[in-house]
Amino acid sequence: MNKTTEFADIILPLPLAQLFTYSIPEELKADVAIGKRVVVPFGSKKFYTGIVKHIHNIPPKDYSTKDILTCLDEYPIINSFQFNFWDWIAQYYQSTLGDVFKAALPAGLKLESQTKISANEEFRTKEVLSKTEEQILNVLKHSKDVNIATLNQATGLKNTLPQVKSLLEKGAVSIEEQIINPYKEKKKEFVRLASDYSESEIGDFITSLKRAKKQQETLLSYLNLSKHYFEEIALKVSVFELLKSTDISRTILKSLVEKNILEIYQEKLDRIDLSETETSGLKALNEYQETAISKIRSDFKEKNCVLLHGVTSSGKTEIYIHLIQEQLEVGKQVLYLLPEIALTTQIINRLRSVFGNKVGVYHSKFNDAERVEIYNNIHQNNTANAYQVILGVRSSVFLPFQNLGLIIVDEEHENTYKQYDPAPRYHARDASIYLAHLHQAKTLLGTATPAIETYYNAKTGKYGLVELLQRHQNLEMPEIIIADIKEAKRKKQMKSMFSPELMQMMETCLENKEQIILFQNRRGYSPYLECKSCGWVPHCPNCAVSLTYHRYNNQLVCHYCAHSVHPPSTCEHCGSNEMEDKGFGTEKIEEELIGFFPNARIARMDLDTTRKKMAYEKLIYKFENHELDILVGTQMVSKGLDFDNVSLVGILNADSMLNYPDYRAYERSYQMMAQVSGRAGRKKKRGKVLIQTYTPEHPIIKNVIENDYISMYSNQLAERKEYIYPPYYRLINITLKHKNQNLVNKAAVVLTKSLRKIFGIRILGPQAPVINRIQNFHIVTILLKIEKKSSPSKAKWILNQQANYLKEMEAFKSIQINFDVDPM
Ligand code: ADP
Ligand code: ZN
Ligand code: ZN
Repeated sequence: MNKTTEFADIILPLPLAQLFTYSIPEELKADVAIGKRVVVPFGSKKFYTGIVKHIHNIPPKDYSTKDILTCLDEYPIINSFQFNFWDWIAQYYQSTLGDVFKAALPAGLKLESQTKISANEEFRTKEVLSKTEEQILNVLKHSKDVNIATLNQATGLKNTLPQVKSLLEKGAVSIEEQIINPYKEKKKEFVRLASDYSESEIGDFITSLKRAKKQQETLLSYLNLSKHYFEEIALKVSVFELLKSTDISRTILKSLVEKNILEIYQEKLDRIDLSETETSGLKALNEYQETAISKIRSDFKEKNCVLLHGVTSSGKTEIYIHLIQEQLEVGKQVLYLLPEIALTTQIINRLRSVFGNKVGVYHSKFNDAERVEIYNNIHQNNTANAYQVILGVRSSVFLPFQNLGLIIVDEEHENTYKQYDPAPRYHARDASIYLAHLHQAKTLLGTATPAIETYYNAKTGKYGLVELLQRHQNLEMPEIIIADIKEAKRKKQMKSMFSPELMQMMETCLENKEQIILFQNRRGYSPYLECKSCGWVPHCPNCAVSLTYHRYNNQLVCHYCAHSVHPPSTCEHCGSNEMEDKGFGTEKIEEELIGFFPNARIARMDLDTTRKKMAYEKLIYKFENHELDILVGTQMVSKGLDFDNVSLVGILNADSMLNYPDYRAYERSYQMMAQVSGRAGRKKKRGKVLIQTYTPEHPIIKNVIENDYISMYSNQLAERKEYIYPPYYRLINITLKHKNQNLVNKAAVVLTKSLRKIFGIRILGPQAPVINRIQNFHIVTILLKIEKKSSPSKAKWILNQQANYLKEMEAFKSIQINFDVDPM
């Protein structure tokens, strides 16, 4: 017996700090290996798919081990780079390996108690089976898709796992990956001519079908769809497409197949289209881009991370493309991160036109099967079909790269790079820098409006700094015009939410057949309803927020827990029947626009209009093709989209951003306004941006007008220093949650006291956040601010220890405690 492979430490997809040790049964010793998935029992009821992290021969001290049930993989699916990366994420962001595992693998690769079991057909037993075992086998033989839950139900037992395990040991049943895996290969049916018929033979067929009109029509339709008479090689025609085109039934197609005229064949369909695409060469860089790219290359000789600070439309993307090309030439992989799915739509076309099928996309709008396919594709790095460039959002940092040469983090300032719930609360930009380090690769951060921390790191020499301040073809930066809404309101000149200036500019644009983008950082119709006589506002019963009114379905919706109700027709407080909607979101803007400009083609881009797969793509495509005149949107329209014909961008309410109670509000407002302005006037002429505000004198508005990032940066930096914030200090936010408000408050006081004994004035709070109740959980936060030079790992260790002490107290054991390192 091989003593060194007795036990395996398994990462389970649970928020548990430790790994669990299982014994490896003799018959699995050849199979179980580090990085493979195994199925293990957990507790008395469940089993999970875990990942083997270590193999050794040291039995755990405090529990007796259970056996691994089965091994799912022929080859490891997690490589050593990933294990090291997972360890770092768990440690740095104070989460567990189980949480990281859950975040890292596409759902299709994680199987839980739903794991399916099947009977082995060739099983013949000499042993006596128990009554329940017989019963289970019987169920398995007669039904499909059976899991433990089904078996429990069928047998009436609480838990059939022990019996299943014993059947597994006897070889009577198996847990087959093909059966368990939700991911199945997709096959599609196509039609083609049954043989390589000559033109005259085909002509004869057509004539011979004179009496069978429908069959004739079907054949003609096939010839038409396959472009038989136009293309040297007939185009692929799917059965579905053919049947749909003629509206015929399958029987008619069948008769053509029986006559040996057409045939049906199947082909495995890669969900991701890997067919050869036409590629064109790289664009030659302009002189500014040339200077910038040489500086990037030389900075990379000394630094692992470089910031490319390039104004909107300066051609950063073209620089990325050149750098990607260099990596591909030396056989390295490239990860290209974007903050928003909407952006992948535009960039993917630019990348595919240069790199063809070497580029893959990865984001959450793909279904499980598609994500598994991409995961596996990257894993098989060496094969000819493998992607070498991955374009993806946040979670793509977890893909199984083996050979990264470069990570590009585009729009690095975007806060969507930070994951908030659930843990791990990681920042994809910062994690990228560590990931690149593991691969001895480089990281390039790109943006027109760097995050204060990033610019600081570049200025102080931690990162390289490359500036590109010329737009391509010396296009001018847009002209920024301010509309003073306070003034317009006083003079009663506002038309709904539009100032006279904005109205007039929109009219001119539409007359000139130019396009408009309107930006408002609020979705829905109106942020809240209010009783006209007593001021009562409907709130969410589960959260401390007012309900947002959505007109299209006439619902009041909570944006935190999705609770929705019919709007009340009378006030719950005073009974008055005059409920008024207050403020405005994108939906109301859209509605008002339709009223003012009935002939304009208007669409809206926000969370509500882009839930469906391909919804972004369709909107962007329509806008690019000028099938739309006005696009109204939330921050989705502000990020890096590149349209040719937009001559006006309207920012409807700058103040809501500026007044947000957060130390980053000014930085964010600047970034948001500068970015959305960047959408105006590309290619042909100078664009215009109109900002509506109550505070035209605001310093941030001035910075935006003057396109003065540096002033904004210096002012913010001074404030950060004075008020003890990043980049001078590191923040860790501790959140306590419980359904009982008193209890959570008490717990927060106790924890704050004990932390203050250690950290002194570096501990702030406890305080109630802006929204202090979500889904009936009361929330209290404590903030730790520590000096950059002190050890964060020691502080984290202390935080964990103190949190554990608290949870060991009987009264507080049900309090939930979260850590958010570098909160956004
Ligand atoms: P950024 O990413 O900095 O906003 P882009 O790379 O999107 O800028 O460039 C803006 C526009 O200018 C794009 O349409 C792009 O194709 C074009 N462009 C930029 N650089 C070049 C170049 N060197 N040659 C041709 N077109 C370019
Ligand atoms: Zn009222
Ligand atoms: Zn709610």
